[in-house]
Amino acid sequence: MTPFAQQVLDWYHKYGRKHLPWQQNKNAYKVWLSEIMLQQTQVATVIPYFERFITQFPDITSLANTDIDKVLHLWTGLGYYARARNLHKAAQIVRDQHAGVFPTQFEEVLALPGVGRSTAGAILSSVYNQPHAILDGNVKRVLARANAVEGWPGIKAVENRLWDIAKTHTPDQDVEHYNQAMMDMGAMVCTRSKPKCSLCPIQPLCVANQHDSQALYPTKKPSKTKPVKQTRFIILHCQGRVWLEKRPPAGIWGGLHCFPEASISDENQLVNLDYKLIKTEQTLISFRHTFSHYHLDITPILYDLSDQPTQVMEHNQGIWYNLSKPQQLGLAAPVKALLSTLHHELN
Ligand code: SF4
Repeated sequence: MTPFAQQVLDWYHKYGRKHLPWQQNKNAYKVWLSEIMLQQTQVATVIPYFERFITQFPDITSLANTDIDKVLHLWTGLGYYARARNLHKAAQIVRDQHAGVFPTQFEEVLALPGVGRSTAGAILSSVYNQPHAILDGNVKRVLARANAVEGWPGIKAVENRLWDIAKTHTPDQDVEHYNQAMMDMGAMVCTRSKPKCSLCPIQPLCVANQHDSQALYPTKKPSKTKPVKQTRFIILHCQGRVWLEKRPPAGIWGGLHCFPEASISDENQLVNLDYKLIKTEQTLISFRHTFSHYHLDITPILYDLSDQPTQVMEHNQGIWYNLSKPQQLGLAAPVKALLSTLHHELN
């Protein structure tokens, strides 16, 4: 075992996290679910989602057998919805191709939708103590600083260098705790800003600490100004219900329910609607929703209708959503916020 790994393990046994919900009565399903939820999301945010999910779907088969709308409903607010769709697809693969038992072979785990090399390694090392290295965001930060690795880790050559370092230090024994320790160190000690170097078990080995250059690593992604796009949400309201369409499975908010959209330049946005049904039209205050790659400025337009238009229902897959009795649906975050506002203002 390298001195680095030994220090990390010693630290873990004293200070590492051992009471997270997915660490109790541990199994592959819980660890897999937590790893997917923790991608791009912090532990404190994940915990209540994880607990609701496990209560609703206590095992892989119950998740596989449920409707995707229920999965997306429980995921609402966690973001990056492709994770939820892949989780559901992967559960069905485990049910159909592995008799409902989570696979134990690295290649089989890696083949599941939404599971990359680091996630596969994290699951198999955590549950079966298999000696696989991991390289999530936290581990990248620790290793980049400890070894003063230059370059943005999104560049393949930089990532490969970090994988090589990760493999060098991953021990054959107690890998379950070593990998957990590396994640904990990144989250608790070697934090993005103001790392707590005086509390760090590898301080004497850390190159960035020796040169007081922690802030330089890992190299930041070359910054690009996010483009701004615009859209309108068409809110059709009739007697306490609003029309929500189910979006196609691919693309933004895939599979979630959303208000119909109209581009800002489209004057004829209500092409399917009988205009005689419109009692009032009101443009609501615009707001911004930010994705990882762009900002979306949304202008909601509220149409109060005298009757529910049959044409909307014939040409689109969707529902008349009861504002007073919310249905269990996956909702895009800005839609969820707007529904809450509408509930208070229209009732
Ligand atoms: S000494 Fe500081 S910079 Fe280096 S790994 Fe530890 S916390 Fe991170």
